[in-house]
Amino acid sequence: MDVFKKKPETKILIVDDCLDNLLLLQIILNDLGYQVQQANSGEEALTALDGTLPDLILLDIQMPGIDGYDVCKRLKANPKTQEIPIIFISAFSDPMEKVKAFKLGGEDYITKPFFIEEVVARVEKHLILTWQKKKLKQELKHRQEIEKKLVESHQILAHILESCPDGIAVLKYKPSRKKKPAYFHCTFVNAVMADFLGLTPEDFINQKIFNSSLDRFAPSLFHQFREVIDNQLSFERDFYYETLEKKAWYSVRAIPYNEGILIIVRDITERKECELILHQTNNVLYQQAVTDNLTKISNRRAFDVYLEQEWKRARREELPLALIMIDIDYFKRYNDHYGHEAGDRCLYTVAQTIRQAVKRPSDFVARYGGEEFAVILPNTETEGAQTVANTIQNAIHDLKLPHDQSPISSWITLSIGISVKIPTSENFTQLIQTADHALYQAKNQGRDRIRVFFNCLSGVSSTLG
Ligand code: GH3
Ligand code: MG
Ligand code: MG
Repeated sequence: MDVFKKKPETKILIVDDCLDNLLLLQIILNDLGYQVQQANSGEEALTALDGTLPDLILLDIQMPGIDGYDVCKRLKANPKTQEIPIIFISAFSDPMEKVKAFKLGGEDYITKPFFIEEVVARVEKHLILTWQKKKLKQELKHRQEIEKKLVESHQILAHILESCPDGIAVLKYKPSRKKKPAYFHCTFVNAVMADFLGLTPEDFINQKIFNSSLDRFAPSLFHQFREVIDNQLSFERDFYYETLEKKAWYSVRAIPYNEGILIIVRDITERKECELILHQTNNVLYQQAVTDNLTKISNRRAFDVYLEQEWKRARREELPLALIMIDIDYFKRYNDHYGHEAGDRCLYTVAQTIRQAVKRPSDFVARYGGEEFAVILPNTETEGAQTVANTIQNAIHDLKLPHDQSPISSWITLSIGISVKIPTSENFTQLIQTADHALYQAKNQGRDRIRVFFNCLSGVSSTLG
């Protein structure tokens, strides 16, 4: 126990009309280290109490004027002084007098003539009692303050939990025992959480939540919750949940808490819907960004990206990459003769025909510019590229698109240049340049034909389409 220490400022008031008593007690108590104040009468005692209050009063009963009983009565009626312990010291030895003294609120009673040791012992006992009482009071006050704060924070917490738009629940984990399956025991749930599932909090509290109960929300959820406890790591996931009344997306966060988990569930349907719209819009924008508006096949930008990507892949895997460059013959004359709109329609038809002539998913057809088209054929040797070029040329021949102004045919024809390489450097523009070169040769040698660029001195070999 934190023991009482006599403090030098401990003050004792002695009230006695007998001066001998006063003097004796003062000497003894002073020697023991107490500050002693004297009063010869009740009146003097009351005046003395206007100043600094004593820690204890030794009070004689029989005094002229205001007697000890009266002083005691007044002190105990005054909230300022009522806590000061009063020890009566009196010549009255009648038990009824003692009873009266105690009834008036006196803490103790010593009969005169007194033994000084007894007075000292009782004084010290009452000082200790008063000190302990004070300590208890302080502690009680402190506890009351803590309790008040606790109640306040509890109220705030309850308010937050109930006004929070998120569903909140606390689940305690109960491991499997005696062949009975493991489960979570719900110890707290707010109204929002219960509402998410079309229930009331009362339905939830003390419910046992088994693996199968969670399966309907998301498979393996039970297992994931248990892992949060095992690893002491939070986890978060989004899932879709559909009831008869509602189709919604939820984000679930599980946080380790005591021997269980704290679960926070948020309805994220709106966000998900926005994300979906954004995703769709992005897709549309992306398609627009990579598609040629007139011909509806890939545009030059997409061509550049795809060629670089396939060039790198072919270099890594040491595989051949073929590029076919296609140009409509005498298209300016076509435009001039049939008009720009007919020219546009013709470009569209040619582009779509080329696209349909190309079969592999990795083959790529783009409008390279104006009336020029390009076809990228990953992992394709020269022979294969020639076959594809022939297919394209034949498909255009088969269309028999009239071209009255062409000096070489009555129909639309194509000049085609092919280049095939197993890349050895980063520079893929050489593939375009060589395919262009072969195309130039096709034009030069009369158009409506296919030419392949070879890495030998002659540069270009001819293949008639
Ligand atoms: P060559 O046989 O040498 O290729 O002759 P050409 O007339 O086809 O080639 P040139 O480069 O001289 O002309 C290409 C023409 O293609 C010019 C332009 O009128 C036409 N052209 C390019 N882009 C478009 C387009 O978007 N729409 C239409 N209608 N015509 C286009
Ligand atoms: Mg051209
Ligand atoms: Mg042309």
